[in-house]
Amino acid sequence: MNIGFIGLGNMGGPMAANLVRAGHAVTGYDPVAPVPEGVSAAQSAAEAVAGRDAVITMLPNGKILRSVADQIFPNMKSGAIFVDCSTINVETTRAVAAKAGQYGLQAFDAPVSGGIGGATAGTLTFMVGGRQTGFAILRPILDVMGQKVVLCGSSGAGQAAKICNNMILGVTMAVTCEAFALADKLGLDRAKLFDVVSTSSGYSWSTNVYCPAPGVGPKSPADNGYQPGFSSELMLKDLRLSQDAAELANADTPMGYLAMKVYEAFVESEDGRGRDFSALLPRFEKRERTGYDDRDKA
Ligand code: NAD
Repeated sequence: MNIGFIGLGNMGGPMAANLVRAGHAVTGYDPVAPVPEGVSAAQSAAEAVAGRDAVITMLPNGKILRSVADQIFPNMKSGAIFVDCSTINVETTRAVAAKAGQYGLQAFDAPVSGGIGGATAGTLTFMVGGRQTGFAILRPILDVMGQKVVLCGSSGAGQAAKICNNMILGVTMAVTCEAFALADKLGLDRAKLFDVVSTSSGYSWSTNVYCPAPGVGPKSPADNGYQPGFSSELMLKDLRLSQDAAELANADTPMGYLAMKVYEAFVESEDGRGRDFSALLPRFEKRERTGYDDRDKA
């Protein structure tokens, strides 16, 4: 297929490269990031999308997506597929999809899980929102970049699945780090805790696959000085999106809220910026039990 790709950063770059490897003709645009080998470089977003069968965006946030959408929709051919893989809020996703419809485009949200490693290896999970019609055309493109594609429902359902998943991940990682720091203070060996938890009812991806304790469990960013991996900033971004969505939907999410406050303090007032999101473990190690009468205190 003829594919336009806008946003060739940490995720978009390797995703576009995989499309080229699979034999697609890809034209890409990014004002900063280099164009991967085999991708034709366009001088603007509008140029990258003209005449393409499908256009993929992989951008930092919803505000940028809205602005890019305004630039590209008038230049896309009617009936073409527009798929946004960025992680953004549900409201913006639905607004942009509605606008795409006015231009006769078939719009999908398809945020991903799997990080830079998954983007490079072509093993991402895509959570898709949009209409069944058109999904049959979209699916083979996503299959090139990922190992699992789930059509979650109508427009916005992909973003909803992504932020629910990452709210679970943020809360689970935070409590996993708390538990390992508590174990230290109780004189319990970390390897023993891993041995028990990873095969007991407290098990989770955060312990079993991505253990925040260095030297314990499979290799993870903890074994590499907490270099990301998945950065604390990105986790904070996703937890904020989940709270925006909860606000919009009038949903009670106290654990998600508290995890957001913890990552907010870690990133904005402490040393969390640029560190993996599992670096909450050394954070908790250093802290004492204070502030438990005040719910807002992380
Ligand atoms: P990134 O910052 O590396 O890439 C974004 C790219 O968009 C940049 O290269 C930037 O120059 C480009 N860009 C900005 N404004 C633009 C414009 N107007 N036109 C064209 N390009 C523009 O970010 P990333 O890590 O690749 O993440 C992209 C998206 O994927 C984000 O929404 C993020 O939340 C999500 N995501 C990231 C990860 C991860 O591990 N990095 C994992 C899952 C989801």
